[in-house]
Amino acid sequence: MTTAINTPGVPGRDGSGQPNGLDVIDPYRIRQDFPILDQQVNGKPLVYLDNAATTQKPLAVIDAISSYYLHNNANVHRGVHTLSQRATDDYEAGREAVRRFINAPDANEVIYVRGTTEGLNLVASSYGRKYFKAGDEVIITGMEHHSNIVPWQILGKEIGIRLRVVPFNDDGELLMDEYEAMLNDRTRMVSVVHQSNALGTVNPIPEMVELAHARGIPVMVDAAQSIPHMPVDVQALGADFLTFSGHKMYGPTGIGALWGRAELLDDMPPYQSGGEMIRSVTFEETIYNTLPHKFEAGTPDIAGAIGLGAAVEYLESIGMERIAAYEQALLRYGTEKLGDIEGVRLIGTAEEKGGVLSFYMEAAHPHDIGTILDSEGIAVRTGHHCAQPVMARYEIPATVRASLAFYNTTDDIDALVKAIDRVIEVFG
Ligand code: PLP
Repeated sequence: MTTAINTPGVPGRDGSGQPNGLDVIDPYRIRQDFPILDQQVNGKPLVYLDNAATTQKPLAVIDAISSYYLHNNANVHRGVHTLSQRATDDYEAGREAVRRFINAPDANEVIYVRGTTEGLNLVASSYGRKYFKAGDEVIITGMEHHSNIVPWQILGKEIGIRLRVVPFNDDGELLMDEYEAMLNDRTRMVSVVHQSNALGTVNPIPEMVELAHARGIPVMVDAAQSIPHMPVDVQALGADFLTFSGHKMYGPTGIGALWGRAELLDDMPPYQSGGEMIRSVTFEETIYNTLPHKFEAGTPDIAGAIGLGAAVEYLESIGMERIAAYEQALLRYGTEKLGDIEGVRLIGTAEEKGGVLSFYMEAAHPHDIGTILDSEGIAVRTGHHCAQPVMARYEIPATVRASLAFYNTTDDIDALVKAIDRVIEVFG
């Protein structure tokens, strides 16, 4: 079967002349912003399809970080001298950029963290320790990344709370009836992934929030995989907490953000303590600082925050709607192409999904497939993707995951398909 989504030489039209969305963005123009992509790996042009693990960084981000170190390096919030003021202004401008990007009501509700993992740990530790007691329940889903399982589990052991897990069907869609039935008077928190890293499923957050809020239960959203690929508006989602990592949205590693409603954050105890998070200290007593500083103990990742702000501005300059439309078109193209290969089983076929092509082949172990793909210059992730319960659900050890970004092209998918043909040649 030949694919119908693309007419060779006419990127914006499918086989019957209809718009296919692939011309929403010119990825070849975009790629000029990412010099790292222009290189050979193992003698072949690099095809980078490991974007769910981490994305590449555009020059705008690299330049913002190097400009900070070249011209403005100083500690923030502490000095009256000019460099410190410049550093503070740029650091706080990053926070305001994040606020705007997620449509948060107030920049003070945006807390810089190391990434999604720290955002989840912060809420579990600070909110959980204050409000949870033995017998309480926290609801997560069967498709969570380990970082949205283990913090609740550790807390569960300490306090005696029970973790409830919403199952999903073979396509990777949550069983919403089961979710609704799980919500009860003992539920203290729902913590759910927006887009699954292993399956690509985009979960119905507004619907889940509505059901939880009807019982007065707060909702935390892990937006690590959604924020780089679609507009994320905390007010439209209705959630109470939302967290994400800079490095998955074209920003640097070591920085991310946690957004939370001010009234909840205000009442939560600090997560870590030390400098910056205090208003006054005596040996008898410490008065904590106001938001967001109460949760930002110690010297923060200043260059990271500035780089994150630059990543936000870069994404805004392209437009998240356009990015989402292009990546959806590329996902359709990839799904058709991979679907045509005998012996390739796509894992994660939800109606609502982002640009993740996870697959399994009986013929070869995912790690062997990954090695062959690497020899062809193709970077994919193989393994359980820090979502072991997802692998257990499908009774497979691991998958090969090709994950898309807006700098990927139909050529990248074609190269992947060709390399999979090579895997079939080798393993039969
Ligand atoms: N949540 C999801 C859905 C992820 O995909 C990841 C990373 O792969 C994380 C959380 C953890 O992100 P980080 O390692 O940046 O803290």
